[in-house]
Amino acid sequence: MPEAPDEAEFRARCRAFLDEHAVGIHLGGDADAGGAKRLEAGRTFQRALFDAGLAGLTYPVEYGGQGLDKSYEKIWREEYANYPNMTFEFTISHGMCLPMLAEYGTEEQKQAYLKDNIRGDTLWCQMFSEPGAGSDVASLQTKAERDGDTWVINGQKVWTTLAHVSDYGVIIARTDPEVPKHAGISMFILPMDAPGVEVRPIHQIDGGKHFNEVFFTDVSIPAENLIGELNNGWNMATAMLMYERVAIGAGATSGITHDRADSLIEEATKRGIIDDPTLRQKLMRIYTLETCQSLVSMRTRAEMQAGKTPGPGGSLGKLFSTNIMNYARDVSMEIVGASGVAWEGDTGGGWARTALSGLQGGIAGGTNEIQKNIIGDRVLGLPRDISVDKGVPFKDLKVGTQKSD
Ligand SMILES: Cc1cc2nc3c(=O)[nH]c(=O)nc-3n(C[C@H](O)[C@H](O)[C@H](O)COP(=O)(O)OP(=O)(O)OC[C@H]3O[C@@H](n4cnc5c(N)ncnc54)[C@H](O)[C@@H]3O)c2cc1C
Repeated sequence: MPEAPDEAEFRARCRAFLDEHAVGIHLGGDADAGGAKRLEAGRTFQRALFDAGLAGLTYPVEYGGQGLDKSYEKIWREEYANYPNMTFEFTISHGMCLPMLAEYGTEEQKQAYLKDNIRGDTLWCQMFSEPGAGSDVASLQTKAERDGDTWVINGQKVWTTLAHVSDYGVIIARTDPEVPKHAGISMFILPMDAPGVEVRPIHQIDGGKHFNEVFFTDVSIPAENLIGELNNGWNMATAMLMYERVAIGAGATSGITHDRADSLIEEATKRGIIDDPTLRQKLMRIYTLETCQSLVSMRTRAEMQAGKTPGPGGSLGKLFSTNIMNYARDVSMEIVGASGVAWEGDTGGGWARTALSGLQGGIAGGTNEIQKNIIGDRVLGLPRDISVDKGVPFKDLKVGTQKSD
């Protein structure tokens, strides 16, 4: 179907904006993810996007959005796919926290937080995982206790991406240990500069330090920072994880893309080995897998455009993208050979970093095994895993550092 004239005009506006703001800007290497240079470039881009009337396209005007139909967002994503990802650092802010606040936040929370988030003035992180609660995040031990008009938070989170540069975090904490583990959790907005919050960066094998341990000692937050209903945090956490899987699996863009295949073909050409028939076959396999992944992502986005909250199908895209990443990593090391482990200048370091940082794909946002469990249970309708703690009050479970008698 041909585009309506205003849609065509909108597409041209997106393209003109991207030509001006996303071309020729050095974003820093992979190891700089979450680093000052990359973040500043992202903030500058996002503010310009807001000023151009192209940020928060589908969010209501009164909260800083553009109040547009979802078809405009599709157009934006299609155009953005042809340019460098300027907003990688905003994946959690915009792909996860923003839709959660818009869907479950109170009117006051929407007024207070959405516009600054959309404009990129504030950065948000997600505080779910703990040392004893990752795949089984409902076993979390960080607790929030009511004290007058405040909630007092004590405990620890880990692997918190960008906590060291974030202004706010969406945190889940235990608010009732007397009920089974999924039933006594609530979700809150936590200002990262609140007294008692201590952020300790974790140094990664690829040279970056984009995630952190976060400790909470008697951190007091206003009662109105509760998101949604008290003790309904598990349902909201599940919704946020679905948004996360779409954000990771489908990315910020739309349309058919095959970035990994393209860059590997370029590297193989540069190194004079592109005519090797076995390598060509492997490169074509990556190209084909990425094309299929784009189609899966487009279907997920189309479902969201039709008004559906992302469902377990998001796990398909996430698992698929991790499998491609793993295969492409092996092929990349074959192409760059010894310079993937020892290099001079810029001959191989970037590929080594990409290979190392790619390992996180099968863990972040839920491991591959957990995605397979979700697909088995909720897409294919297979019998669920045995649950030994069903109906048992949280305080009686042996989880983390908690020991029952
Ligand atoms: C790059 C990166 C960024 C992250 N960012 C964030 C963030 O911003 N916020 C946040 O809250 N968390 C974040 N995480 C944490 C991430 O969500 C957890 O690491 C992940 O959920 C796995 O939890 P775990 O590390 O505790 O592993 P575990 O849960 O201890 O799992 C260990 C192993 O056991 C397997 N396993 C566990 N349970 C099952 C089961 N039921 N069936 C089959 N196999 C199972 C797992 O697949 C895995 O192989 C991030 C992680 C990474 C790598």
